[in-house]
Amino acid sequence: MRIKIQKMWGKVMRIESLIVLTLCATLAISFISVVPLSHAGGAAPDESEELIFYKEPECEGRGIWVWAESFSSDPNVEPMQIRDAFHNFSEAGLNFVLFLVKDSGGWLFYNSSIGPVDPRYYWDPLKVAVDEAHRFGLELHAWFCVFRDIKVAKERPDLAMVNSTGHVSTEWVCPSKPKVRKYLKSLIEEVASRYSVDGIHLDYIRFPNRTYCYCEDCRRSWLEEHPEKPWPPNSTDPSFIEFRQKLITSFIEDVQNTLKGINPKIKLSAAVFPVPKDAINNRMQNYPEWAERGIIDFITPMAYTSNTQEFEEWIKGTITAAKGKTLIYAGIGLYKILEAQNPEDEFRRQINITRTVKVTVDCSVLGVNGQVLFRYKYLEPFINATKEVYSQHAYTPHSEAIPPQIGEPIQDPPKDNVQPFQNVTITVNVTDYPTRIRKVILHYSINNGTSWNTTVMKQVCQNTYQATIPGYQYCTWVTFKIEAFDVVGNNATKDNYGLGYTYHVIPEFQTIHIGLLLALMTLTIIFGIKAEKSSRSHIKSTNKNLKLSHLKMKATLSLHVTCKG
Ligand SMILES: [Zn+2]
Repeated sequence: MRIKIQKMWGKVMRIESLIVLTLCATLAISFISVVPLSHAGGAAPDESEELIFYKEPECEGRGIWVWAESFSSDPNVEPMQIRDAFHNFSEAGLNFVLFLVKDSGGWLFYNSSIGPVDPRYYWDPLKVAVDEAHRFGLELHAWFCVFRDIKVAKERPDLAMVNSTGHVSTEWVCPSKPKVRKYLKSLIEEVASRYSVDGIHLDYIRFPNRTYCYCEDCRRSWLEEHPEKPWPPNSTDPSFIEFRQKLITSFIEDVQNTLKGINPKIKLSAAVFPVPKDAINNRMQNYPEWAERGIIDFITPMAYTSNTQEFEEWIKGTITAAKGKTLIYAGIGLYKILEAQNPEDEFRRQINITRTVKVTVDCSVLGVNGQVLFRYKYLEPFINATKEVYSQHAYTPHSEAIPPQIGEPIQDPPKDNVQPFQNVTITVNVTDYPTRIRKVILHYSINNGTSWNTTVMKQVCQNTYQATIPGYQYCTWVTFKIEAFDVVGNNATKDNYGLGYTYHVIPEFQTIHIGLLLALMTLTIIFGIKAEKSSRSHIKSTNKNLKLSHLKMKATLSLHVTCKG
């Protein structure tokens, strides 16, 4: 028998952002320490009994997917139900809500002036949800089902996807079509600009499978990009897969740019399939690229299973594919876990996996940053377990605002010994808390900062980044600085307090020249002494010779050692 006693902590309420950040900076890696009961004192020793202390991360994404339809839809009842539910979420330790605003049927659950609003929801559930979430210190992210839109696909077959056999979908709309992109983007823009949402969450941001899409717009775009290729291409053709991945990626990028223009603090996230190969090659969700390019703030792999091993495998796969370049919140399928023999235990196991699983990728040890529960309708049987695993308040990693820390750069060769056309390697230590570094960039200039070249620094290992500045001709002044971005977009620049780090390419064979000059000076002095001894009458001419030699020496120095400017 195991007695699990959880260390209880007082709930910390939302406070000033500075304190939030300071607390976040003290992030401790989660761990479970197992202490035999006998060590705790008091109780009789029993080897089978132990205390398990859960140390929870102080920065952890803890979200839940919520449908307005899970409530009554009655405007006299539902607002209070939303309030009660969100109050419970806050009490249970959750810190953000993904609230459905467009379902896969195509219906909207907010007061839209663009698209079809579900007739039951004329009273604007999104406004209620935003207000109630903020009342209880929760973030509210608007959840959109993107390319699965049954209403549009049925009413406008010209906007629907077409599969390889010519079947016109009655559920999916095609991202190749400008009208589809414009419509979906306008809805997101409408929500982001009219409601105080903290994020936009993209669901069905994908193709149904790789047999789609062979519509007229896909044909035209494909042939424009690949005039040498036949139509239709095979659905497994790597170029055709890449073509469709780009359609999804560019849509996310468009949305990100739109959000930046409205409010750069709005976070962008996406639900992805749990098996990376399936997500990337069948659903066209190239999230390693989204992560690399920084166009997404977090992804939620939909790891819905009641099988612990499968869950762990999927999470590890996602970590490996994302390479630590974006935040990962594991999607936990409560409805699936209900199928387990002991659902609450399985829930605890999956939460523990998200806190303890580590994968080494390119010599960095990576993990996940939180969980999102799917979904509110199935939360009730897990409410006690949720309170147990989320006993302390945690801050959302995607909202942290602490910039990366950049160390002093080291250059090789050192600044006073760079020969003409010699490459210079810059090495720097860059760290980030409580999230991770996504990219480090080296900027360098040979015209005192009038224009800059940039190069992405290679992560050599863990926190060490390296890049090379190409060789330049002698007398070139090179200025450089380093910029780092973390996975949620915070950035920092190391530029020697605005001056930039500089070095000067020295003349070739400088050492030989100095040697020759020293020899010349010695000879001149010897010659001078001899001349003085031989005849005082020749003093004037000797002095003249000395002066001439000195002038020659200066000329040589000027020619070979000193650079203009
Ligand atoms: Zn298409």
